[in-house]
Amino acid sequence: MKINPITFPIAKHQTLLNKKYNNNSKVDAGYSAKNDLQSQNFYTPLSLANYNISMKGRIHYSPLSDLKCRSENFAVLRFDNIPCPDCGKTMLPRAKYNKIVNMLNNNIKPEDYLDYIGQYKNYMRPVEESVYEELTDLSKKINEKDISKLVLELREMKLPELEATQNKQLTKMKKLAKHLPDNEKNILMENIDLIEKEIDRNNPQTVFRRKIMIDRIGKIPIRNKRKYLKLQKLAKDFPTSSAMNAAWIVKYSGLDKYGNPYDSKTIATRFLLSSVPSADHILAYNIEHGHDDITNYMAMHSGCNGQKENKHMLTWLNEDRDNRIVNMKKYFLAVNELIKSKKINTPKYKDYVAFATHRIQNLTNNSVKLFPEEEFPLTDEQKKLLTIKPPQEIIDYNSTDN
Ligand SMILES: [Zn+2]
Repeated sequence: MKINPITFPIAKHQTLLNKKYNNNSKVDAGYSAKNDLQSQNFYTPLSLANYNISMKGRIHYSPLSDLKCRSENFAVLRFDNIPCPDCGKTMLPRAKYNKIVNMLNNNIKPEDYLDYIGQYKNYMRPVEESVYEELTDLSKKINEKDISKLVLELREMKLPELEATQNKQLTKMKKLAKHLPDNEKNILMENIDLIEKEIDRNNPQTVFRRKIMIDRIGKIPIRNKRKYLKLQKLAKDFPTSSAMNAAWIVKYSGLDKYGNPYDSKTIATRFLLSSVPSADHILAYNIEHGHDDITNYMAMHSGCNGQKENKHMLTWLNEDRDNRIVNMKKYFLAVNELIKSKKINTPKYKDYVAFATHRIQNLTNNSVKLFPEEEFPLTDEQKKLLTIKPPQEIIDYNSTDN
């Protein structure tokens, strides 16, 4: 493989990198995926439509009082060897992740980071695994073991790929703009122009504009709901490190939000951090006000959950329908084994699989029936509970249309 010369502001980067090596900075073992979800990696857009029920102001709602449960208390997260219903790879329990970070902090030499985290490759999400393979190949080829140097080597090669994907999304947005009323079109085009000017491949702070774009685009008062949602989807599909190999490498070969390069230890942890499970609301909670009870949760890699964001079940499913149906089946069967073997022993979870799979069936208008009815049955009364609609507290930005 030919390595192109690096035009990235390497002098500053290298100085900071060297500085990092000399002070033995430790990665926080208790580093919270939730902070990560809320800060930079996984962004929940605060569009006009869902501004008023953002995470903080949320009222935890469920008509199933016995099964009520806040997402952070969803017990399935504690168990081992459960496949992710999104990507199908095994989820890494938080406790195991903390142990790995602890080892990196105290027992493993920087030149062994890459080998060490390789033991946990079966837990890596597909994106992280593909980056890992690429880095280990490169490591052998150029005889370099330092992770931060390896990602830096690949940066220049990955930038055009990132740029091409960004341009493709911007072109699609411009096409959509043509079909909007003049006033809406002008605001949208102004925002697209602004973002185009701001994206700067030589500036690690502005090489990604995804979050800003989702935020700005979300606030444009487009009255046609279908077009508004399509535009939001285009913004969300902008490259992100949790979904694209090139974006991952560009991100971690760049600078963090404080303007410092990512050190090898931090990058090593990032191969596994997004594999820690989080509770996904099957019926999205911030747009559709999905219930806070166990019938509305699936444990999911925090990285995959971040990608799913607040998509409707059908939208998410249709992105990779066949695989996701298979992965959801694997997930529910594995959880069912835990319940059967009493590793999850709380009465609340007795009918979890039946409830959650019926909810999925309802949400997909019966097009996805994961198991035959007799395998995970519900009584008519239980079925009725699932159809209770949450209170409509959402301001409909489109209501002036009617
Ligand atoms: Zn996953």
